[in-house]
Amino acid sequence: MIQLIDIEKVYRTKTIETVALHRVNLHVERGEFVSIMGPSGCGKSTLLNIMGLLDEPTSGHVAIDGQPVKTHSDSKLAKLRNEKIGFVFQSYHLIYDLSVVDNVELPLLYRNVSGSDRRKRALEALEKVGLSARTKHFPNQLSGGQRQRVAIARALAGNPEIILADEPTGNLDSVMGEEIMDILLRLNQEEGTTIVMVTHDENMALKTNRLIRFFDGQQVADSRVLEAQI
Ligand code: ADP
Ligand code: ADP
Repeated sequence: MIQLIDIEKVYRTKTIETVALHRVNLHVERGEFVSIMGPSGCGKSTLLNIMGLLDEPTSGHVAIDGQPVKTHSDSKLAKLRNEKIGFVFQSYHLIYDLSVVDNVELPLLYRNVSGSDRRKRALEALEKVGLSARTKHFPNQLSGGQRQRVAIARALAGNPEIILADEPTGNLDSVMGEEIMDILLRLNQEEGTTIVMVTHDENMALKTNRLIRFFDGQQVADSRVLEAQI
């Protein structure tokens, strides 16, 4: 589904050079629920941004469904991202002066989806996250857990093949965190959505079907691969 081949990411300023990712090889298969763990600064967000085609590696390449994306134009990359990938962030990234349902419709605005169809798909997505009773609310009228459910519904409205989630439960207490995790597990198990989730929570990571640990920009463990092979 998404393949990272010999990825190197170096951030350079005039005086500092930071190697954020070093020789990363990773193949996320369709239907997997992968969790990524590691200390702050080890490259997890950089990894997710590269997987999500939001950022380019310094060297190495990314392939989606076996097709290298290196030569794609920006508009083709944007199209791939829009059609295949849903993003969920720790801090929700909702638009606070739009209602819940309008937030969820946003990714469909970039496609040629008619107004009535947008509304229908947004309402379906909100139903999947148990928020049918809050569609006309505004984000600041919701709890953190509900806000994150809106963000998940927004990702789902685009009918993505893969969801990339950067610490989706990081701002939530344990009860709300569990609710979000249950929704992600259900999407993976019942709808077959591929998920890659960065988390600091070992208990959540252990519920996924593949746990990869990073340290200093490198994979140091992958529950699916023998360590000797990394
Ligand atoms: P994590 O998500 O694991 O906390 P990041 O991917 O955010 O790690 O960062 C990895 C490393 O790259 C860190 O040392 C960080 O300081 C550095 N880094 C991240 N983004 C930038 C940037 N835009 N410019 C320079 N350095 C960056
Ligand atoms: P944190 O997990 O530290 O709260 P965020 O979730 O806000 O960080 O964002 C994680 C990364 O994704 C950042 O590098 C940010 O620039 C990028 N990002 C956040 N929102 C978007 C977006 N809507 N589109 C593209 N990139 C985004």
